Amino acid sequence: MPHTRTTAEWQAADAAHFLHPFTDFKALAAKGSRIITKAEGIYLWDSDGHKIFDAMSGLWCVNVGYGQRSLIDAATRQLETLPFYNAFFQTATPPAIALAEKIASLSPPGFEHVFFTGSGSEGNDTIVRMVRRYWDLLGQPERQVIISRQNAYHGSTMAGASLGGMVDMHSQGGLPIPGIVHIDQPYMVEHAQPGESRDDFGRRAASWLEAKITEMGADKVAAFIGEPIQGAGGVIIPPDTYWPEIQRICDQHGILLVSDEVICGFGRLGEWFGSQRLGFKPDLMTFAKGITSGYIPLGGVLVGERVARVLIDQGGDFNHGYTYSGHPVACAVALANLQLIEEQGLVQRVRDDTGPYLARQFLALQDHPLVGEAETCGLMGAIRLVRRKAQGAQAAEAFGSDQPAGMLCRAHCFGNGLIMRAVGNRMIVAPPLVMTTVQIDEMMALIRRCLDLTWTEVQALGWV
Ligand code: PMP
Repeated sequence: MPHTRTTAEWQAADAAHFLHPFTDFKALAAKGSRIITKAEGIYLWDSDGHKIFDAMSGLWCVNVGYGQRSLIDAATRQLETLPFYNAFFQTATPPAIALAEKIASLSPPGFEHVFFTGSGSEGNDTIVRMVRRYWDLLGQPERQVIISRQNAYHGSTMAGASLGGMVDMHSQGGLPIPGIVHIDQPYMVEHAQPGESRDDFGRRAASWLEAKITEMGADKVAAFIGEPIQGAGGVIIPPDTYWPEIQRICDQHGILLVSDEVICGFGRLGEWFGSQRLGFKPDLMTFAKGITSGYIPLGGVLVGERVARVLIDQGGDFNHGYTYSGHPVACAVALANLQLIEEQGLVQRVRDDTGPYLARQFLALQDHPLVGEAETCGLMGAIRLVRRKAQGAQAAEAFGSDQPAGMLCRAHCFGNGLIMRAVGNRMIVAPPLVMTTVQIDEMMALIRRCLDLTWTEVQALGWV
């Protein structure tokens, strides 16, 4: 769309008509939105011509960066040939079939089937209905309970937000829906005991699942769901011992294990799927975002053979689906996106080159007076801002709830042409996978500048 209005005109029309997601409408209208008008590679531009380094890949999704010709051409070709047809009427389109086949070929052994949705939230709604259907078909309809974690993010539909563990979301709209319960997240900063090792903490955090299963009764539990690394919850990287122990507990009780790969899938952690990096074998995987690099909406569920065999061989109708399940244009773009990721070797590049490089740069941030910890996995990282650093046995001191250092830092990022997200006082990056080490250097220089400015400000405010 031509960029035909002034910033003030766009802002006025935006405030008058557009209700943004997860937004205080009144506060934003008073402040005015930033209008993003174009993008190329890892950069965005706003309506005032400012160039912005997008260290969040849009919203954790633009894995191949902006402006990739092959994705644009795939969409155009498919729009010309067949812009839409459904998969309800005993019909299918070539892009949807080819994409399901392609995803199965990229996934770990035992994943042969794909159910398409329009988004990650719809994918997780599908998970709820599919796991309960699975147990119904096996003659165990009382297995209804799905266990998730505090501070998880699994989407914003009724089931997605219920699976999620966000207190602010549960406080609106009568959530969670019945049969969904939560355990604590494996976040050492909040839950580790004094002197507890990382490995011991990982095992103890996994044992909370066992306790919850005992509390609910194992014969009532259908599944456990988790993001390999919690994203929107603040990039919480669990200890290496956590997921294998979760797997063991699920196996022991016969409970389905679901990996929400909406952020971690398609190369973000240096493997095709985050569960491969974190060392576990789920029965089902939700995906979205990186499957099309966000160029067009698409999500879905990868269904492992344990569940697929029951649904297919014993199933009858599965009364669930969406108009856009297997949308041909979205699937064509996804195929072009996966081809590009393969041709450019992006998954290996993150694993062997840019991921380890980013990890070293984050480690070097530890010397900054504002940084408690700075950690990464693949191209996903978090910096925890603290008011006093750890000293000897003394743990780092967090900012008070009335000291939103993350918000101050985010404002400095905004002012300095960098998009980093603030989750409380954790500053988050998840840059495009096409990023080079030279661009990582550029990002790190921007991050340091913004940390310095934030440090000066919190000192002036007397917060440290
Ligand atoms: N799961 C995870 C792990 C996510 O991060 C998100 C979105 N941030 C979702 C599900 C929901 O995806 P969508 O916004 O496409 O519905």
